[in-house]
Amino acid sequence: MANKKQSIVDERLWRKIISPREARGEVKFMEPMRSHTYLQIGGTADVFACPQDTVSLENILAALNEERIPFVTVGGGTNILVKDGGVYGVVISLKNFRCGDIAKEEKDMVMFFAESGVPLQKLVSFSKEHGYSGIEGLVGIPGFVGGAIAGNAGAFGYSIKDSLVSVKMINPDKGIYEMSASELGLEYRASKIPEDTVILSANMRLRKDVKEDVVKRIDSFLKQKRETQPLLEISAGCVFKNPEGTSAGRLIDEAGCKGMRIGDVEVSRVHANFFINKGDAKASDFLKLMDEVKKKVMDMFGVELEPEIRIMGRNVNG
Ligand SMILES: Cc1cc2nc3c(=O)[nH]c(=O)nc-3n(C[C@H](O)[C@H](O)[C@H](O)COP(=O)(O)OP(=O)(O)OC[C@H]3O[C@@H](n4cnc5c(N)ncnc54)[C@H](O)[C@@H]3O)c2cc1C
Repeated sequence: MANKKQSIVDERLWRKIISPREARGEVKFMEPMRSHTYLQIGGTADVFACPQDTVSLENILAALNEERIPFVTVGGGTNILVKDGGVYGVVISLKNFRCGDIAKEEKDMVMFFAESGVPLQKLVSFSKEHGYSGIEGLVGIPGFVGGAIAGNAGAFGYSIKDSLVSVKMINPDKGIYEMSASELGLEYRASKIPEDTVILSANMRLRKDVKEDVVKRIDSFLKQKRETQPLLEISAGCVFKNPEGTSAGRLIDEAGCKGMRIGDVEVSRVHANFFINKGDAKASDFLKLMDEVKKKVMDMFGVELEPEIRIMGRNVNG
């Protein structure tokens, strides 16, 4: 079958639509997404753009909107599976949005401002260093603040939602706007933030606590995470969401899936809800393995597993 993959935007068109505007930051063309995802899987993106600042991002989004060129946003790429046919359109990386600092301090709490490209673990280390409480359970979760908000990342009974006060976003139609955390529809590994909306920054409230207690909790959660998850292997974290009242990992394990392998993708023997890239894995094999595992869990328990990882892009043949 003919390969239908064509770019919607190449270097010439990009220069034409972007050059009349100010848009600072690195831009790459036909960029392999495997270089930008923890899973190290995925075809090329027509354009991979890393705007340097908000004005540049705003101008890029305006141009894409005018030309009706689709885009997706990525943070640290730790929860993404990009298909083998790559991404049709533009991938916008927030990796240059790295400012973060205390915005306000009161007797019992601090308000922390973080741009969306701040690594989540930088925030956890900061709270550990100063004895600020609220995000201890997020220790060991890779990726950026923006990605953590988009998927309401969490563990050990904590989620980012609990400390989040407000989020600034940009959308091609609405421009820049701010919403309170309660308006974002944040729930277990999900938010109602529309796909065409880019998270720019967040304000988070952390409680001042006894430093030793914060350190103890963080160290204990990290120890548990290291003991139960294959953190040194190539994965995107949990593949499926936990169904109500149970753990997807346990169901997958009990359905006999640990060690199942298609191509170079294997169900982890350490934690069954982690799929590992054992070398040169393809997205198509990852998706086939997801289907096989889903089927086995459905056959044995009658439970339908839902993906937690975000799947983007196209199959090789369009
Ligand atoms: C070893 C390992 C352990 C993990 N453990 C956990 C865990 O315990 N708990 C947990 O919740 N997750 C866990 N994860 C998954 C992942 O790290 C988190 O979901 C993380 O918060 C994703 O952040 P990111 O910046 O990498 O987002 P990405 O993977 O880049 O993107 C994820 C989604 O968010 C969207 N997005 C990213 N940035 C923005 C933005 N600025 N604006 C709008 N949308 C955006 C993307 O479009 C995509 O849909 C783990 C992953 C790994 C590899």
